[in-house]
Amino acid sequence: MILVTGGAGFIGANFVLDWLAVNDEPVVNLDKLTYAGNLHNLDSLRGDTRHVFVQGDIGDQALLDRLLVQYQPRAVINFAAESHVDRSIHGPEAFMQTNVIGTFRLLEAVRAYWNDLVDEAKANFRFIHVSTDEVYGTLAPDALAFTEAHQYQPNSPYSASKAASDHLVRAWHHTYGLPVLTTNCSNNYGPYQFPEKLIPLVINNALQGKPLPIYGDGLQVRDWLYVTDHCSAIRHVLAAGKVGEVYNIGGWNEIPNIEIVRTICTLLDQLQPRDDSASYASQITHVTDRPGHDRRYAIDAHKIEQELDWKPAETFTTGIRKTVQWYLDNAEWVTAVASGAYRAWMARQYTDT
Ligand code: NAD
Repeated sequence: MILVTGGAGFIGANFVLDWLAVNDEPVVNLDKLTYAGNLHNLDSLRGDTRHVFVQGDIGDQALLDRLLVQYQPRAVINFAAESHVDRSIHGPEAFMQTNVIGTFRLLEAVRAYWNDLVDEAKANFRFIHVSTDEVYGTLAPDALAFTEAHQYQPNSPYSASKAASDHLVRAWHHTYGLPVLTTNCSNNYGPYQFPEKLIPLVINNALQGKPLPIYGDGLQVRDWLYVTDHCSAIRHVLAAGKVGEVYNIGGWNEIPNIEIVRTICTLLDQLQPRDDSASYASQITHVTDRPGHDRRYAIDAHKIEQELDWKPAETFTTGIRKTVQWYLDNAEWVTAVASGAYRAWMARQYTDT
């Protein structure tokens, strides 16, 4: 049994689906179901007894204590977070509550549980903290990509809260001996991503005839990784990662935002042309840049590739094509998520344990 937090969100849900597709070990999935959590993402697991969903907050230590004792997981994988940079600029409070205080409560509950384990169970237990490359701050155009030794220089409330959580996780290892591993991954894309993030936002807006907003000149560079490659990397870290270590995860795909948007437009032009046959690129609109917008992130993924023998299965070309096709095939999912109608559906389908 493993315990996953945030498993109704974009990456967490992909992880749960992926995990149960490749092995039979059951998953307890603790998620608060904020606006970003969506049980539709887990529709294919309805009736599957290997998946137990619990609605709850990682900041609720009494609930965590109960779940850990009840399910005796051999690992906890922490995906739960407030994750959207723009939202963190407008309302940082929730980011501090979940990403900092929530991680602290989770660590404390896991520490108490782990302390009571004995022998092999104690030695084999793992806590994996899923984090971001944004904690490293911004890179000059000619600077080397982030290694695990790169200095932390977070620039947004989101990245500052994630950096704080990474430090807590590190401290719980060095101070209490908790067997933790931290992963810092680049931008993910793929199925089930909430349509406030760049790639699903652009696909969605394009199809609805809305403007495709580009911050500033659109030359901000990000490294992109297809979400199931992130999931497989986390499985590698759980299976063979060294306790106390950090692993950077990335796809060696440094791409400026404007190019991402143009690529999506080209794919949509082929797969679902506009009625007037004009390119979706005509909908591109430049808007005022986000304050504190980091210019470039790049991940050096040599450590995980060499030490854990992990490699992404998708290139950006294959991954983005799959992603665009998925959103075209799952228009109902986007509509439901965007309208919030899934909440009513969710209340009918699931109950807390
Ligand atoms: P997401 O916003 O799509 O999902 C977050 C999930 O956490 C949601 O299901 C939400 O309901 C849940 N949640 C939020 N607060 C909670 C709380 N207090 N208790 C329990 N559940 C709570 O985020 P995501 O994109 O899937 O990201 C998952 C993790 O991966 C985050 O920690 C994020 O920082 C990290 N990460 C994301 C990316 C990316 O590109 N999306 C890249 C690197 C790392």
